[in-house]
Amino acid sequence: MKRILVSGAGGFIGGHLVKRLKREGLWVRAVDLKHHEYTRLPVDEFVLGDLRDPSVVSYVVAGIDEIYQLAADMGGAGYLFTGDNDADVMHNSALVNLNILECGRLAGVKKFFYSSSACVYPESNQMDSDNPNCAEDSVYPAQPDSEYGWEKLFSERIYLAYMRNYGVQVRLARFHNIFGPQGTWMGGREKVPAAICRKVAEAADGGNIEVWGDGKQSRSFLYIDECIEGIRRLMESNFIGPVNIGSEEMITINELARRVSAIARKKLGIRHVPGPQGVRGRNSDNRLLAKKLGWAPSCPLCEGLEETYRWVETQVREHTAVAALQTE
Ligand code: NAD
Repeated sequence: MKRILVSGAGGFIGGHLVKRLKREGLWVRAVDLKHHEYTRLPVDEFVLGDLRDPSVVSYVVAGIDEIYQLAADMGGAGYLFTGDNDADVMHNSALVNLNILECGRLAGVKKFFYSSSACVYPESNQMDSDNPNCAEDSVYPAQPDSEYGWEKLFSERIYLAYMRNYGVQVRLARFHNIFGPQGTWMGGREKVPAAICRKVAEAADGGNIEVWGDGKQSRSFLYIDECIEGIRRLMESNFIGPVNIGSEEMITINELARRVSAIARKKLGIRHVPGPQGVRGRNSDNRLLAKKLGWAPSCPLCEGLEETYRWVETQVREHTAVAALQTE
């Protein structure tokens, strides 16, 4: 049986991926700095460890056939686009990728999946909220809008270099805003769908929620189940990538807020406040994905949003109840 390592398994996408791999009957070792906060992982082994440390990485790659590398110093706009965490983001994630590749190839790992990001695309192609260009081949000349994007681009290149020079197989995906239950929803690292769900769940009917900027910036959001399907299909295909894994259903952040309010059956106003926003427009371009894999995501945003809102709403309720008990 294939032996798989999922690095970053204590996180959102890694946790869902572990469950999928186990359902497929594979042997799975998981590694993360922390246990998963929201679910029990059905793994064969869980190693609590820091992948910046080569001795930890040497230990977790031993006996492994394939690695899904999802560990990154990561967050939403509030974490990645303020500039306050740039050094850590670049240093920590680059070290993880360097260690995974070097220790992995020395241990005889045959195949590596790497989770890159839509943040690699040039800022200049994403100034128009109606017409962003995120075709895979538009990435050079490079001009990502964040250091997070630069690190992802650098790491894509190290994976490709290891493939060329050491003969390992790699598969590279560029994720576009993945969302769903069991992801970070509070604390400063949450991404926009979870943040909006939380704000809506916390707001009283007839009240307001805050949106950073004018809310006219556009994005697309891919539900986690389809992301996992895309990862597995890419890994089993002959295509190396990099390839977008995202949704082509682009909406503004204002519209996202209105849709979540409708799911919650609340009438809420939107108060626009200053905050980090990233590029004006971003949408997945799935032409290459469809051509190479014969598959592209098709789940409408509204379906995943309903599931996600219900989950965040439960988290907010439980969190509020615990906080109330603690103040009694
Ligand atoms: P996440 O933050 O939920 O998960 C990342 C996990 O990596 C965390 O559990 C964290 O503890 C772990 N980690 C970080 N540094 C580590 C270290 N030194 N050693 C061990 N573990 C470490 O993020 P996610 O949303 O699950 O994203 C997974 C991957 O996909 C990341 O590489 C991210 O950059 C990429 N990505 C995600 C999105 C998205 O929308 N979620 C979009 C583009 C790219």
